[in-house]
Amino acid sequence: MSRVAVAVLGGGISGLSAAYELHRRGTPFVLLEKSHRLGGMIRTEQVDGFTVDAGPDSLVTQKPAAIALCEELGLGDRLIPTRAPRTAYVVRGGRLHPLPPGSVFGIPTGLGQLAAHRLLSWRGRLRLGLETTAPRDRGAREPGDREPEDREPGGQGLGGRELKSQEPGGREPGGRDAEHRDESIGAFFRRRFGPEATDYLAEPLLAGIHSGDVERLSIQALFPQFVEAERVHGSVIRAFRRTAAARAGAAARHGPFRSFADGLETLPRTLAACLPEHALRRGNGVAALTAGPPYALETADGTRFTADQVICALPAHAAAPLVAGVDETLGRLCEACTDTSIAIVVLAFPRSAVAHPLRGSGFVVPRVEPALSITAATWISSKWPGRAPDDHVLLRGFLGGARRPDALALSDGALVDIVRGDLTRLLGIRGEPALVRLYRWPRANPQHNVGHLARVAEIDRRLARAPGLHIIGAAFRGVGIADCVAAGRAAGRTAAEVARSAA
Ligand SMILES: Cc1cc2nc3c(=O)[nH]c(=O)nc-3n(C[C@H](O)[C@H](O)[C@H](O)COP(=O)(O)OP(=O)(O)OC[C@H]3O[C@@H](n4cnc5c(N)ncnc54)[C@H](O)[C@@H]3O)c2cc1C
Repeated sequence: MSRVAVAVLGGGISGLSAAYELHRRGTPFVLLEKSHRLGGMIRTEQVDGFTVDAGPDSLVTQKPAAIALCEELGLGDRLIPTRAPRTAYVVRGGRLHPLPPGSVFGIPTGLGQLAAHRLLSWRGRLRLGLETTAPRDRGAREPGDREPEDREPGGQGLGGRELKSQEPGGREPGGRDAEHRDESIGAFFRRRFGPEATDYLAEPLLAGIHSGDVERLSIQALFPQFVEAERVHGSVIRAFRRTAAARAGAAARHGPFRSFADGLETLPRTLAACLPEHALRRGNGVAALTAGPPYALETADGTRFTADQVICALPAHAAAPLVAGVDETLGRLCEACTDTSIAIVVLAFPRSAVAHPLRGSGFVVPRVEPALSITAATWISSKWPGRAPDDHVLLRGFLGGARRPDALALSDGALVDIVRGDLTRLLGIRGEPALVRLYRWPRANPQHNVGHLARVAEIDRRLARAPGLHIIGAAFRGVGIADCVAAGRAAGRTAAEVARSAA
């Protein structure tokens, strides 16, 4: 049986980033990818003059890891910003309402923005504005309070804290428990901003990004900046106002998102091209993993080999049965990391067939808007330059997630009809589409629900007993590409150091 220093499982951006770091440091590895292409969810198609991202379409600038990797790979000059105006809209009463410029997730930082916030009623705006006087949560520690002990074993930390979970709607008994209390996005928003801002901002924007349930997703896991703002400043609005000037400078110029003229797949493609071809095994998934080190692996075609270290960069549902071969509890913890599925329908129309001016990046649909089935839509040709011929517009609509868990059971025709129907009604579209593409994303959106951080801390404790096994990927720590790059590179670095010290 052959033996490798490190086996990387999964060729998405997490696995590729780990492999890149191993290669840079001269550590021999193999990367095993089930499908015949690398990049995982990052996938771009060129179809009939249109550039279509099937999954993610942007890198965020606030988290530097992905942009830094692009620069290291020589792609810095090819990064492009979104087109202005970068206005995002929210549907209310069947109409599109723009979010005030300079607001953060629709939260105004100034009185002018608050007054101009036509999405919310006067009552909703007043309640939102009163956030500056809302009492600090009894669980939020005062500045200067002692940080809770970081009990995560070395290297794989979340950089976060151990949290007690609080189920949606419930409160943990007692007072001190709240010290590390986890809270849903919905509970946090209702407490600080009131019910209307929860329905029309938090639900479609913050939970919507994750195709999740606002009453279940953890604010601490996904938007720690909100929790930190309350803890340090006693008010999210006051905290965001303090940083508004700096944000306005950078964001006003180019906005917070970047991509490439030929779509986001440029990043994993370039990354893969830096790696030795013989180490990249496509079309051969990992079927079994047993305890080590050295860990014994078996691939779908029956090949067996051992690895001193394993970097598992798979979705949680794919990781669970494999790591269960090392530690059953670890497998169960991975299995408990849930996800949702979505469908994306991409449609192109002649510009003249769309009544709406599409001056912005797209819109989100709150779940309290019963007349619509889609959760959001991106106006791709308004958001990015060069994605469609000049006389056409390119749109993509999202359907499913926690709001409609059975969406992928619908036929292709039904999914396209639903998205097309909603877009037609909202944007005033006439005639037949020039292009139709449908992308199904089963179990693609990890749900970092209340209790997720505590579960990941438990995973890290179990991993301390399995030397050389690393678990990374969107399901566990950060969901976005930047987080995946950072975690992948960190795991690659750690594995390379361990391999060097063992040599
Ligand atoms: C629709 C959508 C839009 C998104 N938009 C954005 C965005 O704009 N910006 C952003 O930052 N993030 C976005 N995200 C999130 C981001 O795309 C993901 O977090 C990231 O791409 C996940 O990378 P990964 O490598 O962890 O996982 P994946 O990309 O899922 O890669 C895992 C790989 O493992 C392989 N695999 C599975 N089982 C096995 C096995 N047994 N053996 C070997 N290989 C296996 C899979 O084939 C896959 O290639 C979006 C996600 C979705 C679904």
